[in-house]
Amino acid sequence: MGAKTRSAEEVTDIIYLGGFLNMFEDKTLVCRDCGAEFVFTAGEQEFYAEKGFQNEPTRCKACRLARKASRPAAGGAREMHDAICANCGKPTQVPFLPREDRPVYCSECYAAMRSI
Ligand SMILES: [Zn+2]
Ligand SMILES: [Zn+2]
Repeated sequence: MGAKTRSAEEVTDIIYLGGFLNMFEDKTLVCRDCGAEFVFTAGEQEFYAEKGFQNEPTRCKACRLARKASRPAAGGAREMHDAICANCGKPTQVPFLPREDRPVYCSECYAAMRSI
């Protein structure tokens, strides 16, 4: 007993410190991309304020990362699109958006056709 008891003075310090640090409070915002709620933390708000950003983030972290990743300039991996092989019917992925008027082949069929 007693190990966890804090003196009144200590508690006051903690409240004071907490109050000082909490000029910003965690805020729950709604992502405009996926509609999920996300927390705009006090730390992030402080960061935004320091940088002079006027606007609150409009997207959750996942969507922000996804947008970053999908930006071509970022030089990341190319976006892959699901497609069905026109030859064997197997699901496959292609680095371009499949079009109705253009058959898409899986890598095996594509290789086989090219070798003809
Ligand atoms: Zn989102
Ligand atoms: Zn195929």
